[in-house]
Amino acid sequence: MLTAGNHLLASSFVLYFPCSKLSKRPTFTFLTSPTLRSSMDGPKKPTRRRSSYGSSRKSVLKKTFKQEQVTFTAPVSDDPVVAIIGGGMSGLLCALQLEKRGVRSTVFDTGIHGLGGRMGTRSIDEMVFDHAAQFFTVSNSVFRELVDEWSQKGLVRQSQGVIGELEAGGHFFPFLSSPPRYIAVNGMRTLADSLLSQSSLIEVVRPCWISSIEPYNGMWHLSENGKHRGQFDATVIAHNGKCANRLLSSSGLPLIARQMKRLDLSSIWALLAAFEEPLPLPGKTVAPFEGAFVKGIDSVSWMGNNTQKLSNSQNVGPPHCWTFFSTASFGKRNKVPQENIPSATAEKVKQLMFAGVENALGLETGSLKKPIYTRVQLWGAALPTNTPGIPCIFDPLGRTGICGDWLLGSSLEAAAISGLSLANHIADFLKSGGLRPDEFSVGLHKDFHPLQGHDIGQFPGLESNKDICEAEFAFVKAISLTKLHFPCCFDVRLSINSLNGNDTCVWNLLASLPIAVS
Ligand SMILES: Cc1cc2nc3c(=O)[nH]c(=O)nc-3n(C[C@H](O)[C@H](O)[C@H](O)COP(=O)(O)OP(=O)(O)OC[C@H]3O[C@@H](n4cnc5c(N)ncnc54)[C@H](O)[C@@H]3O)c2cc1C
Repeated sequence: MLTAGNHLLASSFVLYFPCSKLSKRPTFTFLTSPTLRSSMDGPKKPTRRRSSYGSSRKSVLKKTFKQEQVTFTAPVSDDPVVAIIGGGMSGLLCALQLEKRGVRSTVFDTGIHGLGGRMGTRSIDEMVFDHAAQFFTVSNSVFRELVDEWSQKGLVRQSQGVIGELEAGGHFFPFLSSPPRYIAVNGMRTLADSLLSQSSLIEVVRPCWISSIEPYNGMWHLSENGKHRGQFDATVIAHNGKCANRLLSSSGLPLIARQMKRLDLSSIWALLAAFEEPLPLPGKTVAPFEGAFVKGIDSVSWMGNNTQKLSNSQNVGPPHCWTFFSTASFGKRNKVPQENIPSATAEKVKQLMFAGVENALGLETGSLKKPIYTRVQLWGAALPTNTPGIPCIFDPLGRTGICGDWLLGSSLEAAAISGLSLANHIADFLKSGGLRPDEFSVGLHKDFHPLQGHDIGQFPGLESNKDICEAEFAFVKAISLTKLHFPCCFDVRLSINSLNGNDTCVWNLLASLPIAVS
């Protein structure tokens, strides 16, 4: 039997077998497994041994728990390179932060049209739709600094439109004291694509689907369907779901794989629709709402007006481009393979979602004007429903970490913080030469807890709480009515600002009330 020390002389990494329980301290064992032999011979060409487990969900699980842990023991090189698999918010910010810390990285992403993952934007002629993340909020000071930087560069700006809750029958309750909401000025994807534009230590490889990561000679070797994609000192898994489970099921990272397997994800349908005329929104609002969390309707949980949001003006269009999202329960009940949606399902989902929109707006069934463009899409792995509540996970023996929204919550902010945290952690680890692994283990055994929030994410200050909303609305209405006879509305404005509201939002709201606003 070899010890970790003398094995170091024999090879730059060893495998150990976590005999019975993964959590037990493993013994170092001679290298006899077929997995190891193939690694020792160098990264393999497509001559794949057919796995005895196959690739069904059940067998992926089985593999996940049976695989051997890889342990790198050689000191980290002087100029290490990190592979980041996933170019969503978390992966991109991980790369940027590594660069700030002087570490090179390569970001691999499957995106055909651009980076960003769930920061997706679809543009067709003059129509633009954010078809996943709609806006983001900022509560963390480090993230705030970054967002300020993006604001100065003109990549993002605060959205001034009114948002709130919409109940069946067209009852809209605006959020009055909402924290600033940020949007990307030309759609979320352009923000993602701009983030790395001035980087010098980051390489982007796209579209590229990393299908295997293998340890060999002290490095991780990545490949895409048998095509070698480079060797790296450390690896970051910046994606989740089925893809990540497959990738990790035979990677030699059982603890990382086990944490990933614990994650539960919702499914959400997106319906994009463009109309010649503005949607008939409820009430006699001077300032129509820009977005609404829809309550009590199974097929719709959010509706957002992209045209209004991106034009930053009240008088917009045509075309009026809306994004509608289903609830998670509707998504689950109507789930199909997202890459291959049967046309009958697409049609059914479209009809049900339009019916939900009519119901939400208090319109008669079938009265919605025919859209000039529609598209349905399923986000099969939309948002996490549970979380370990830790910014990142890192396995120092396998020199691999995970970042992503789900580690902290379900929002762009959560994804950003996770990516930044993992980058700092890896930079510290690499600086240590990788020689004190025990000090760098993070989150490998952390338990998960359920996540609450809106179906499309968690936004501090935008809690889905009708009571608060109604109370605020009643409060503003009361103030506005009592002040109606005053020649100036300044007092009203002061009172509302004391709710920590956003000026323009509040003024828009006041404009929608039956009072004179000066
Ligand atoms: C419908 C919907 C609405 C939402 N609305 C909001 C919102 O309004 N506000 C908000 O803050 N958040 C919202 N979110 C959540 C937000 O979009 C996510 O929290 C955030 O984008 C997650 O970023 P990420 O980096 O963790 O993962 P992702 O964005 O999923 O990035 C992972 C990337 O990895 C790539 N990838 C996967 N496997 C591989 C592989 N093997 N090789 C290479 N690349 C790979 C994927 O293609 C993807 O590009 C919404 C999400 C959905 C689905």
